[in-house]
Amino acid sequence: MNTKTINFQVEKTAESKINAVDWDNLPFGKVFSDHMLEMDYADGKWQDPVIRPFQDLKMHPATSVIHYGQSIFEGLKAYRKEDGSVSIFRPEMNGKRFAESCKRMCMPELSPELFVELVAKLVEIDEAWVPKKEGYSLYIRPFLFAMDDYIGIKPSDTYKFMIFTCPVGAYYAQPLNVKIEENYTRAAEGGVGRAKTAGNYAASLYPAMLGQKEGFHQLVWTDAKEHKYIEESGTMNIMFVIDDVLITPSEESDTILRGITKRSVVEVAQQWGMKVEERKVTVEEIITACKEGRVQEAFGAGTAATIAPIKMIGFRDEKFELPAVETREFSNKVHQYLDDLKIGKIADENNWVFNV
Ligand SMILES: *Cc1c(COP(=O)(O)O)cnc(C)c1O
Repeated sequence: MNTKTINFQVEKTAESKINAVDWDNLPFGKVFSDHMLEMDYADGKWQDPVIRPFQDLKMHPATSVIHYGQSIFEGLKAYRKEDGSVSIFRPEMNGKRFAESCKRMCMPELSPELFVELVAKLVEIDEAWVPKKEGYSLYIRPFLFAMDDYIGIKPSDTYKFMIFTCPVGAYYAQPLNVKIEENYTRAAEGGVGRAKTAGNYAASLYPAMLGQKEGFHQLVWTDAKEHKYIEESGTMNIMFVIDDVLITPSEESDTILRGITKRSVVEVAQQWGMKVEERKVTVEEIITACKEGRVQEAFGAGTAATIAPIKMIGFRDEKFELPAVETREFSNKVHQYLDDLKIGKIADENNWVFNV
């Protein structure tokens, strides 16, 4: 790993907290590794990154991000390979997406190469925190936010980029009940749906809560204008297998987050010779296919779960049960394939695995 170009300042913790971790009981996102990375943007340029012990931030009450939400993030994972080394899955894709989110939110860009280098350096320092247990991983959270102490509305002049990591357990996603949402929207054309920016998640909480009260784990978002087209499921991309074809909403509209898991599933399916359609997907065709029993599989795709099977789709007053998860050939196979790839169990023919 060539880190010669970056001048890292590393301040190590005096005492690691790793022995206090209950590895058999890891709640998602509540256990933090020993170190974090900080890199400030000021005077029109990025300052040198600093890695220091994980600690609280001190902020001015007028800090711009708190008021106006100029804030973006990423989520990726490091895995313990079978040979004991550590891998990260396609981090340059997260770097590219981060740069795109920066642009849309009027924030200073960070090159994807630098992004990957910073992620890799922090993971290297807290290497011991990458769990050795099967199915476990180290969740990596890079983020960037506006730091000006100013309550006028304008792009901030100063920013803070940070990364912290969390060891996380196996994500045994219970099969999801989802509801096709026709009133609220996640993203509108011309908006910020394609950016991984804080406000998108804040805006989704209320409709998601209403859905949960009705017994749905997640909402399937539809387009803002007509609620005729399927977009995403919760904070995952959505995919279907209908008549042996893998179908997923295309990313042409700027309302859909360009997921790396989804992209990988599409690429693997194509390599396996499966027919794939990335196009507008109507609510109507999904409901018709449900009624005719042609939906073989439906699932969410995202870094947290990789594949989260959908077992029931609710639409207006109807509920459609989908085939049993064990019978789903494609999603089980692709899930296993991606898991095996990340831990070095099978050959990395696409060069997707970054070795730390
Ligand atoms: C992060 C995210 C995804 C999944 O992206 P991955 O790169 O696969 O983790 C999908 N939709 C939304 C809204 C997201 O925030």
